[in-house]
Amino acid sequence: MLHAGAASLTAAAAALISREDAHIAPTYHPLEVVVATAEGAWVTDVDGRRYLDCLAAYSAVNFGHGHPALIAAAHAQLDRVTLTSRAFHNDRLGPFVESLARLAGKDMVIPMNTGAEAVESGIKVARAWGYRVKGVAAGRANIIVMDGNFHGRTTTIISFSDDATATTDFGPFTPGFRSVAYGDAAALEAAIDENTVAVLVEPIQGEAGIIIPPAAYLPAVREITRRHNVLMIADEIQSGLGRTGATFQCDNVGVVPDLYLLGKALGGGIVPVSAVVGNSDILGVLGWGEHGSTFGGNPLAAAVGSAVIALLETGEYQSRAVTLGARLTAGLEGLVGSGVVAVRSAGLWAGIDIDPSLASGREVCELLMERGVLAKDTHDSTIRFAPPLVVTAEDLDFAVEQLAAVLAQLRG
Ligand SMILES: *Cc1c(COP(=O)(O)O)cnc(C)c1O
Repeated sequence: MLHAGAASLTAAAAALISREDAHIAPTYHPLEVVVATAEGAWVTDVDGRRYLDCLAAYSAVNFGHGHPALIAAAHAQLDRVTLTSRAFHNDRLGPFVESLARLAGKDMVIPMNTGAEAVESGIKVARAWGYRVKGVAAGRANIIVMDGNFHGRTTTIISFSDDATATTDFGPFTPGFRSVAYGDAAALEAAIDENTVAVLVEPIQGEAGIIIPPAAYLPAVREITRRHNVLMIADEIQSGLGRTGATFQCDNVGVVPDLYLLGKALGGGIVPVSAVVGNSDILGVLGWGEHGSTFGGNPLAAAVGSAVIALLETGEYQSRAVTLGARLTAGLEGLVGSGVVAVRSAGLWAGIDIDPSLASGREVCELLMERGVLAKDTHDSTIRFAPPLVVTAEDLDFAVEQLAAVLAQLRG
């Protein structure tokens, strides 16, 4: 197997990167690898070098690149019909929303495309529920969010971000949000008033660096929201669908939120598919014409989404995340003290804090790339390992060995 080795960019790869850089708005800073093909947990660049994918497109590729069942579902649907809009019914949407509702133990779905759209939809439905069911005075609804949150990039969503890079020069912002310390149930309860319609929470904060709240936190959020007649909205767009060793991270702490926000892996790494899933006493408050999306619930997305749910219903991916996650965590914990300061993990999802005096997270990711491992830094000195759930034990050992070698190299 050919690994990247001490990679320098070939002329072919450099030319492709320049063509991209010349015309793409500079909102990302990608690693200098140009992927051409991928299979399972591995990607291959334009020069034939192979890399273990330890990001999995931020968990959108939970089932691996080119999963045969998902590709087959997409291929079959491409030959039938791909887009009808919701002006007409299509024969894939019913089975999709039925199985997604069953997976979540709820009875109603709003199908959308990107994660940010699911979040926006959740916000709209919570506000409508607040006015129409809870009886909040017109225009007064507030939603409680968490410090350090990441819910997407639209203007309403960044309105409640505390990340200056995400917000500077993008105002004015949408009002109606209050942010409290993540993991602090007393702070949350203190922020609730009679106009609070929802609490929006990531069960684990992914972009913040795999921040896992105390075990009692989400159960406390559930109890507080129920007592105050406030909706609990769990953004499981990154934490859900197998990543943490359960269908939803909320399952791991015995909590059932009112609304699940899903995305990323729901599209099987093939098409954007997102959804709000809840019960009809909440989602049913929306009427004809009040919400929509041209592509939401399209037959291609529904066919792929149904195939994703069939994979999750086997339980196989959730168990892989548990078993393999334990192995990854043990391997990474062995590096604490040798350049790693701390490891936080849940299933096959690990945040690794690198000793900042040694290197930045970005530098570590660049060195890992040269050794055939693709990972992504988040914030200055944290890197994240979130390989596809089809990764093997040997692949994980390889990733940990390469990280150990990079840290040894940096320690000199
Ligand atoms: C990625 C992500 C989103 C936004 O999803 P997009 O598809 O990029 O719009 C929202 N919430 C969480 C927790 C995420 O990780």
